[in-house]
Amino acid sequence: MSKVVKFGGSSLADANQFRKVADIIRSDKERRYVVPSAPGKRYKDDIKVTDMLYACYDAVANEGKNAYNQFAPISERFNGIIADLGLTLSLDDEYEKIIDNFRKKAGKDYAASRGECLNGIILANYLGYEFIDAAKAIFFTSKGEFDAELTDASLASILEGYPNAVIPGFYGARPDGTIKTFSRGGSDFTGSVVARAIKADLYENWTDVPGVALADPRIVENPKFIDVITYRELRELSYMGFSVLHQDAIFPVRTAQIPINIKNTNDPAAKGTMIVPSAPEGSNEHIITGIAGKKHFSAVCLEKDEMNSEIGFLRRILTLMDNEGICFEHIPTGIDTMNIVVNSDELAEHPNFVERVKQVANPNHIEVENDLALIAVVGRGMKSKKGTATRIFAALSHANINIKMIDQGSSELNIIVGIHEADFEKAIKVIYDMFILSEG
Ligand code: ASP
Repeated sequence: MSKVVKFGGSSLADANQFRKVADIIRSDKERRYVVPSAPGKRYKDDIKVTDMLYACYDAVANEGKNAYNQFAPISERFNGIIADLGLTLSLDDEYEKIIDNFRKKAGKDYAASRGECLNGIILANYLGYEFIDAAKAIFFTSKGEFDAELTDASLASILEGYPNAVIPGFYGARPDGTIKTFSRGGSDFTGSVVARAIKADLYENWTDVPGVALADPRIVENPKFIDVITYRELRELSYMGFSVLHQDAIFPVRTAQIPINIKNTNDPAAKGTMIVPSAPEGSNEHIITGIAGKKHFSAVCLEKDEMNSEIGFLRRILTLMDNEGICFEHIPTGIDTMNIVVNSDELAEHPNFVERVKQVANPNHIEVENDLALIAVVGRGMKSKKGTATRIFAALSHANINIKMIDQGSSELNIIVGIHEADFEKAIKVIYDMFILSEG
């Protein structure tokens, strides 16, 4: 058995957190490969090292400020961790190199990646593990796209030589050696890539929360945490705003069918949330697995007599959207009506879109409705249960919330409702109460 363990920034924010992390790793021999983030916040108003690095780079490379002065708070942060852990390690040569590269304008990605790199060197030293620079093992194409095949092969062959290693998260290199990062939170993705390359049995993702919450804790007070969720359910929920895991992080492990366990560094004995390829029917306590939502959508609403029998109607609209480069979220249709739901910013970027729709589709009526929110109620348990939609609608209707759109995927994994943005928080609360509180 082998496990890949990824620790987020708050799990490695200071020496005390490093000690917890080392205890976790040492308590299980199967935890062989470790992917660290850069030090995160130690307290609410603290600044993440990644953000410090972006700001420092900007000040040095773009504003020409003194590189040593700008970099000092960052080196102090790392030196503090080294001293508190009682290590004899010195990163002075690394700091020199980084400062020099900042002056030479090595790029924002290079700058941001140094947080993971330096933290990885410290963690490897503390654990007595090999440090593998991600620039030598994780690759992007010259266009900056992640090169999955090359990375998989290189990681597999490098890690074969080491029973244990630390591989910093968040970055890799292009063919010319320049550094490229994933999007923010991308260490989750690195962990997933490493897990796939070594064919791990489990990818543990350690963070500072007990697992994946059933609904956003900023909206629902003390929500329950999910015990088991499938990749597909999580994908639906992440797309609609769940943020425990980077939204792409499930893809590498999904192809290899490796489960992910979200765990809490501050409460390692708790079981956390298991993200699994599939789960047997009846394996969840509630009919629904999670509720998520997003604001800021618009609907282009069309009406046309006998739309239903007009061949090519939808095709003309989809071709137009394709040509304009507009991505739609949903297209619910009625007999003679159709709504195109798009992100409001995206619509604003194409001010002529409605006119163009009129030209290609010649509707009897067209209007745009703004300030919409979408809420996804997701659950593998819905498939075998009748009345889930009724309960959602009942909850919303009791709360006097008007439903503007309904969409149920044919997989019966989720039901999406469109409502006015002003009702967003209330809607999530009442749906949560209906399914979770009332089911006990
Ligand atoms: N340190 C990076 C960030 O703050 C990547 C990560 O933590 O996953 O986004």
